[in-house]
Amino acid sequence: MSAGVGAGRYAPSPSGDLHVGNLRTALLAWCFARTSGRQFLMRIEDLDRARDAGSADRQLADLEQLGLDWDGDPVLQSRLGGDHASALAQLEAAGLVYECTCSRADILAAPSAPHAPPGAYPGTCRDRSDTERELARERIAPRRPALRLRVPDGVSAPSFDDLLMGRVGGAIDDFVLRRGDGVVAYNLAVVVDDASMGIDQIVRGDDLASSTPRQIVLQRLLKLPSPPEVEYAHVPLVLGQSGARLAKRDGAVTLNDLRAEGVTADRVRSVLAQSLNLAGAGEVVTAHQMLQRFDPAQLPRSAWTWASAENLATS
Ligand code: GLU
Repeated sequence: MSAGVGAGRYAPSPSGDLHVGNLRTALLAWCFARTSGRQFLMRIEDLDRARDAGSADRQLADLEQLGLDWDGDPVLQSRLGGDHASALAQLEAAGLVYECTCSRADILAAPSAPHAPPGAYPGTCRDRSDTERELARERIAPRRPALRLRVPDGVSAPSFDDLLMGRVGGAIDDFVLRRGDGVVAYNLAVVVDDASMGIDQIVRGDDLASSTPRQIVLQRLLKLPSPPEVEYAHVPLVLGQSGARLAKRDGAVTLNDLRAEGVTADRVRSVLAQSLNLAGAGEVVTAHQMLQRFDPAQLPRSAWTWASAENLATS
């Protein structure tokens, strides 16, 4: 899609309106892509039907209000099922996939391997015979088994250089590739789709940094581009007044809520720009000015706390 140019992307899940934390990450992804001469692509991560609130159009309209633009039409992840199935088939053919019948409770109850990170899959279903697998399937019916990656022996968690976080390491276990309900897991879909869209710059919230080593393992096993060919910037999250990650319960946090409180999209953009050292206090900036001032070296490296809407309306 972007031969030779490279592309960045923003990949929201349509599970509700974007809050200011999401909007800030989107602005950053756009600034990183546009200031490095890349295309900027949009992908709607709509695989999880149960969490799809039909909010994709409103999300895109909000991003436009902030001044973002993107190349081509947004890509719907649900249309890329063929690519996901071929990647899974490729891993299966290499003997790298196994069925897992464990419930969350089973995993918590199982003794964990020495030195395994908390919550890591203990490998219960990894080495089952055909008969054991059949019995396990029958035992959980009508629930269906999930599919997990058999991380090959000798493959350890890759570390990578993040544009903001520096060198990042992490742990990997035999993670899920397809859930028991048949939905392809985030880690597999994101790797396959980023590669097919020609993405070579991934900017997203730092809550996803710990998923990146898993994604790099998949990139390598599927022979897709991986670091240093693909660059990563995991950006600090926005916190609510309670100190926890910003969420809808923190009050007026979406453009729509804020508009109702008298806070315009221009004001939201400007406050976000200020939080990124791209605007002075009270200054109104356009998205274009943000691009002109953008300098990754000046970006804050720690989380930012969102002030309440009343403060924004009056300050
Ligand atoms: N869809 C994910 C989210 O909304 C982001 C995935 C990614 O950027 O890799 O949190």
